[in-house]
Amino acid sequence: MNETVGLAIIGAGPAGMSAAIAAREHGADVLVLDEQATPGGQIYRNVETVTAERPETVRVLGGDYTAGAALVRAFRGCGAEYSPRTTVWEVSTVARREDARAPLELGVLRDGVAEIVRAHCVIVASGAQERAVPVPGATLPGVMSAGGAQSLLKGSGLVPDVPVVIAGSGPLVYLVAWQLVRAGTPVRAVLLTMPPGWKGRAGGTLPEALAMPGALFKGVGWRRALAAGGVEVMQACDLAIEGRDRVESVRFRHHGRERSMEASLVLLHEGVIPNAHLTLAARLDHVWDARQHAFRPAMDEWGRTSEPGVLAAGDGARILGAEAAVETGRIAALEAAYRLGRIHVHQRDALAKPHRASLARHRRFREFLDLTFEPAPTTRRPADPAVMVCRCEEVTVAEIERVVVHGCPGPNQAKAFTRCGMGPCQGRMCATVVSEMFAERRHTGVGAVGHYRIRPPVKPVTVGELAGLVGTGVAPVDRPSTPIRPEHVQA
Ligand SMILES: Cc1cc2nc3c(=O)[nH]c(=O)nc-3n(C[C@H](O)[C@H](O)[C@H](O)COP(=O)(O)OP(=O)(O)OC[C@H]3O[C@@H](n4cnc5c(N)ncnc54)[C@H](O)[C@@H]3O)c2cc1C
Repeated sequence: MNETVGLAIIGAGPAGMSAAIAAREHGADVLVLDEQATPGGQIYRNVETVTAERPETVRVLGGDYTAGAALVRAFRGCGAEYSPRTTVWEVSTVARREDARAPLELGVLRDGVAEIVRAHCVIVASGAQERAVPVPGATLPGVMSAGGAQSLLKGSGLVPDVPVVIAGSGPLVYLVAWQLVRAGTPVRAVLLTMPPGWKGRAGGTLPEALAMPGALFKGVGWRRALAAGGVEVMQACDLAIEGRDRVESVRFRHHGRERSMEASLVLLHEGVIPNAHLTLAARLDHVWDARQHAFRPAMDEWGRTSEPGVLAAGDGARILGAEAAVETGRIAALEAAYRLGRIHVHQRDALAKPHRASLARHRRFREFLDLTFEPAPTTRRPADPAVMVCRCEEVTVAEIERVVVHGCPGPNQAKAFTRCGMGPCQGRMCATVVSEMFAERRHTGVGAVGHYRIRPPVKPVTVGELAGLVGTGVAPVDRPSTPIRPEHVQA
């Protein structure tokens, strides 16, 4: 992987795979890097093995999942070089900033070996991550994310056989509940945490959402299937998970009355946000998306970020769903092919047209979803002082409040005083919560508060792995160790 490639794509989900296919159609040399063992991304995780060997899981996951097999097949056959089990820990634009013709550099880790890969153009298609759900008791054993439970089902065919309560908001709540019911899991209830009045919020966007009736009625079908399966679906607020050593029950308010429900496993989900650590660490411009309550890279209609040559596509660029990720992947690939001199500008523009039209429909539908499933303010900005905001460093709401009161201007300074965001997840789970808390307490916008400053490596890399770095182009310098002596002693 040490030669300079035309186009490097980070992520083999719907966006990355379709970008690779499109770029190959125009003759670009393409390298696709993904930390998973097989292509598919989040939605089509492990789809090749599941469709070939696990008919029971196919039945449980449904047609939307198996549809991914065709895309994976096309990707496998497109001629792109595919590097699975490969983690990208940095996208460096330093050389490019000094010389506009210099390649971009990616720090990658494969089979325990750190390497530098160079590319003239990079598409970051790193997908989404689940939003953190900081509610009381969320760190008890027996609590996990709904997406995590779904990953176990896709990856290993594992399904819970204990009473489950699923709580949160977003289409994935219904989908995972529906899948688990089909798998025979005793789902006790689905607790919807959207704020009161959520049903009417998206009314104005309904006519446009109806332009995609398939997607709309899919949700209605899940809801009906849950009712038919005897799963209680109800509105809930003030959620708290309780238990001595592990989850025993969920307490919540339903129509003003306090209720408690026994559960052995609680699955939480409050929608997804862009997994933007690579673009944040590359110091590209980012914006706060007030509708989606998340930071995302600033981009133009081609996916071009603030650094020429680095494009963003798929849910990592903005949450629009898997089908839209295919379109943004293709559009970014057309821009990459143009930049690499493979197509003319008028070809690029003409070829992008149908993808833009489709993307516009997805955007309108997403507006409907964003309004319907907007996470409650109390979920995004927890008030209970005991709630853990940063799980890695065990920093509570009270500790964040304290540094705000003491004049800490923002999340980066809060890091220094509390260590929030400095654990192994590097702030992935707490960043938006901390930024939103600061913005609320300081009566300002989240964009003005900003995000933690993210530094490479964005994924854990050991010193040993870095020491053997391959591909820097610089031979190790043979020099004596730096002399360290007291100030007054002359060399
Ligand atoms: C846990 C989870 C489950 C989901 N399940 C569904 C579902 O069942 N149905 C649905 O419609 N939507 C689902 N979604 C939403 C869904 O992810 C997307 O809409 C869709 O997969 C987006 O496609 P994408 O190509 O942008 O990203 P993804 O499909 O997420 O692909 C991104 C890829 O990038 C790779 N990657 C990320 N960072 C790095 C790195 N630093 N180095 C190397 N590789 C990297 C990942 O391994 C991944 O394969 C889920 C989201 C999450 C977070």
